[in-house]
Amino acid sequence: MSAPPSTTPLMEQYGAAKAQYPGHLVLIRVGDFFEGFGDDARLLARELDVVLTARAPDVAGQRTPMAGVPWHAIDSYLARLVRKGYKVALCDQVEDPKFAHGIVRRAVTRVVTPGTAIEDRLLPGPEHNFLAAVAHPDGAPAGYAAVDVTTGELFTGAAEGAGPLGLLLGLAPFGPRELLVPVDGAAGSGDVERLYRAEFPAARIERAPAPVDPAFLPAGLAADVAALPAGERQAALLALEYVRTSQPRLLPFIESTPRPPPGRRLRLDAKTLRHLEITRPMNLDDATGPTLLSSWDETRTAPGRRLFGFWLRNPLADAGAIASRQDAVEALRATGARLSALREHLGSVSDLSRIASRLAGRRLRPPELSALRASLEAVAQCRTALSDASLPGPARALGERLDSLPELAERLRAAVPERPPPEADDRGLFRPGVFPELDALATEERAALEELTALEKGEQERTGIRSLRIRYNQVFGYYLEVTRPHLARVPAEYRRKQSVSGAERFTSDALAEVERRVLSARERAAELEAGLWERFLGELDAWVPKLYRLARAVGELDVLASFAWTAQSRGFLRPIVDESGELLLRDGRHPVLDRQLGERFVPNDTELDLADARLLVLTGPNMSGKSTYMRQVGLLVVLAQVGAFLPARHARIGLVSSLHTRMGFTDEIGRGKSSFFVEMAEVAEILRGADERSLVLLDEVGRGTSTFDGLALAWATLRYLHDRVRCRTIVATHYHQLTELVATLSGARNAHLAVREDDGEVVLLHRLVPGSTDRSLGLHVARLAGLPSDALAEAERMLRRLEAAELPVAGGSASKKGPRHTQAVLLATVPERERSALERALDKVDPDRLTPLEALAWLHEWKGRQRAVDPPATEPR
Ligand code: ADP
Ligand code: MG
Repeated sequence: MSAPPSTTPLMEQYGAAKAQYPGHLVLIRVGDFFEGFGDDARLLARELDVVLTARAPDVAGQRTPMAGVPWHAIDSYLARLVRKGYKVALCDQVEDPKFAHGIVRRAVTRVVTPGTAIEDRLLPGPEHNFLAAVAHPDGAPAGYAAVDVTTGELFTGAAEGAGPLGLLLGLAPFGPRELLVPVDGAAGSGDVERLYRAEFPAARIERAPAPVDPAFLPAGLAADVAALPAGERQAALLALEYVRTSQPRLLPFIESTPRPPPGRRLRLDAKTLRHLEITRPMNLDDATGPTLLSSWDETRTAPGRRLFGFWLRNPLADAGAIASRQDAVEALRATGARLSALREHLGSVSDLSRIASRLAGRRLRPPELSALRASLEAVAQCRTALSDASLPGPARALGERLDSLPELAERLRAAVPERPPPEADDRGLFRPGVFPELDALATEERAALEELTALEKGEQERTGIRSLRIRYNQVFGYYLEVTRPHLARVPAEYRRKQSVSGAERFTSDALAEVERRVLSARERAAELEAGLWERFLGELDAWVPKLYRLARAVGELDVLASFAWTAQSRGFLRPIVDESGELLLRDGRHPVLDRQLGERFVPNDTELDLADARLLVLTGPNMSGKSTYMRQVGLLVVLAQVGAFLPARHARIGLVSSLHTRMGFTDEIGRGKSSFFVEMAEVAEILRGADERSLVLLDEVGRGTSTFDGLALAWATLRYLHDRVRCRTIVATHYHQLTELVATLSGARNAHLAVREDDGEVVLLHRLVPGSTDRSLGLHVARLAGLPSDALAEAERMLRRLEAAELPVAGGSASKKGPRHTQAVLLATVPERERSALERALDKVDPDRLTPLEALAWLHEWKGRQRAVDPPATEPR
């Protein structure tokens, strides 16, 4: 970006801000606008559709491009810029133009970036908004850090595997909005950056400038960060430096937040999070598509919703920790009708973290203080509701964790009015009686205003003009207004200020004197109130860490109460989550589809177990529910390991350490990722990354290539998972040949989704039954999809021809199970096999017309011919 010529004082100020905030879109306040110059102006015009103009030519005759947006609407423009992934520095006037000598001093007063925003308008919703950084120190494991400035949390972790993929795996659950990657020159930074872009398409990615000087960090945080392993420490210091430049006021409130170690978490990579649509729909073009989060969320508070999303992306793999969440859910469920009351109280709790962050960042609007007060009161009610001695222990324990900060609530009750004004520069921020000096000025102003009223009355009487009025406007201040018909009676000492249609406006010495007193009292009050507000917020700062902590406790209570609520109202069941190798679900339901289909949803069983049924191969026609079933199993495992109760009649889940999915290209088509190479890369990643405790879901593996090598690779993949990884796996396939091979593996089972045929009508039952099927009913689906009847007829002819042939199967055991309807056969062109002489002879001979002797002779002859071709086989033992 070329620096605009700094030929005027304003442009000098602009240039200084650009230099101080490299990479930011810099907007500078000029009158009622925020203006950008040069490249920033072009960017503004392009992205926000505002008019691009130019400054007057400078000494060199150059006209600098210029574009601006109105000052009062800056927030909505910022929201659009941040959504598009820009970071913006606002350079505002920092002295009153009235008192400025020469050019008004300006400085950057606000920096807005996607990963460090705190205003609700700039944030997509209550979910976490992470700024992340990665670091690859020489000779030490790579590390990452993720910070949410709106909740004060800093998470760090080490790469979960070798190379950049290990870092991606660690970072995936955070889904960062902004990501700092190593600068040029660091090992493979270019490739790494491409990888991140692919995995986090919604993130703004930047080369990290420099680590923060730990001296800038609050003592506790500095000590925690210093104790981290090198990779995590470097990443944390990079992220914190970024916070220091964009949200310096929030830096003191960041706390390093512990997290279960990798072995106690269920690892979900970015693809699995996407495929299972855990918190974001797979199709990014349809952001409203249902997700596990959106359809399962019954929380009542923003911190609850945020924590639920976080838990879904970070499930546990620790039976004890899961059981303690389940115990709490169980206890809350057992509170019966009191659960609804508790949830009512929760419903009045605002987003305490976000309010705290805006308080710390001085972006707080006065009404948020009354919302805060009401929230603390609601928290106190939750606490009381849970304090009943008759309640189960875990429920009471949740209540005891709620510190309703009574001192803060009292302070707010005493100082903040019931309905504060909307903006911090409005008046009336405090209740009367809180600050006597402020009240005194208000009294002074009121007294002066009363004098104005008296003056108006006196002038009406003195002049005899009953319609004479004293009025006020921004430009002219107070004036006496006399309508035209009465102008003749205006006293001589009135001085004309302004003419308007139908009236004249005047001032007088008496009016000027009262006006001076009104304005003086008003100005002093405004100044005093602004100072008191600053001081008041400064005092409240001390509560910020406690509010963050309270928000987390409220969030946890809310999520657990939401689980208890669904358990209570929809009859969900507490799954057994243990160290066993089982994955047993009786009448399991797909958590998302079940809500959409209701009664029409067909529940299904799942029976996997590490010892002898770890691999399940699913066949079934198109649209029969294979993909749905696989996702259902994955989603139920995620929910169980989050601590939720499940829609099933019985559930036992031996802990899953990581969940891997590979979805068919039909399901990923929206991302333009259909190449066979990508598929194989994903399979390779899974085979390398899965361990015995993993759950692997492969939807239609090996389809992006020709039948035979696809089949061969699918088979090899299954063998590898079955023999080497030995983890629980479900595979959906159209290769019916695979099912025959599967029958030879001790730890594998076949199952298919059943179909009923009524008078040629095909009914998909969506019911899982043991054994395989070789029906794919592609033609049936094609008919439903409206393929022209001529094309359908041609397909039927071709299908009959193909069915008459046999497809040789790897291993040679040509089966005799009748016609094949698979897509595999349709795809392959199978030449008619040469019929043997014996077959032709058999065709010709008619047993009904042969005498026993002729038949014996025929048999002898062919036996003799056969021997002449093949040497005698060794006798079987
Ligand atoms: P496949 O992967 O076998 O082609 P899908 O899993 O995509 O089939 O399912 C196709 C459609 O069938 C789903 O969109 C859903 O509407 C319906 N379906 C699937 N499973 C069930 C079920 N268990 N109960 C009711 N409807 C189902
Ligand atoms: Mg499918």
